Amino acid sequence: MQAAPIDKKRILIVEDEPDIVRGLTDALEFENLEVASTGLGKEGVRVMRERGADCVILDLMLPDLNGYQVCEEIRSFNSVVPIIILTARGQESDKVRGLEVGADDYVTKPFSVAELLARIKAIFRRLHKVEAQELLRIGECEVNLRKHTLTRARKVQPLTFYEVELLKLLCERAEEPVSRDEILDKIWGVEAYPSNRTVDNFIVKLRKKVEEDQKEPRHILTVYGYGYKLVR
Ligand code: CA
Repeated sequence: MQAAPIDKKRILIVEDEPDIVRGLTDALEFENLEVASTGLGKEGVRVMRERGADCVILDLMLPDLNGYQVCEEIRSFNSVVPIIILTARGQESDKVRGLEVGADDYVTKPFSVAELLARIKAIFRRLHKVEAQELLRIGECEVNLRKHTLTRARKVQPLTFYEVELLKLLCERAEEPVSRDEILDKIWGVEAYPSNRTVDNFIVKLRKKVEEDQKEPRHILTVYGYGYKLVR
């Protein structure tokens, strides 16, 4: 699997203890991450609204808002940015509450910078995996595997379950011919074996959605007497 790229990602630290901010900033910058920091919760929310970040490291005990409030405010307009809560209190209830208001992870002070860095990297790895699994690109088309949609020329079209499965299989094997028998076997399974025509019918439907000109397909190609091949 491809490594998650963390270079140049932007981390926002919301923490009022200068020593921690300094230590973290040095360590994160050493990893080629871009760091912004503030000691105030309100300022953290403002920075997120105006500039955004790829990950937020958030202290619970801040002079103005507490970390839960900051987390909730950020979540009101950004549901995806990973938020890691830092706190001196190691109580289970803090952890539960933090996760309830939308934090993704939790690190108890005193923590080692290496541990926090490992958590950040793990989060980026997970995100990278989810993103890579959710979207397929075929030429000008973007296929969203979670929403079962295909977007081409700004037109969003729904995909059926079997259409999604078929596209996934062809994409996994992009540039290689895949036989009709293999498609039948992997997608419909041996028990529900429909005829070879089923595959052909699904290909016709998919071409309508994927191809600019169905008569001259550029992405879903026929391999005569064998099956199909997807070309991105
Ligand atoms: Ca604090």
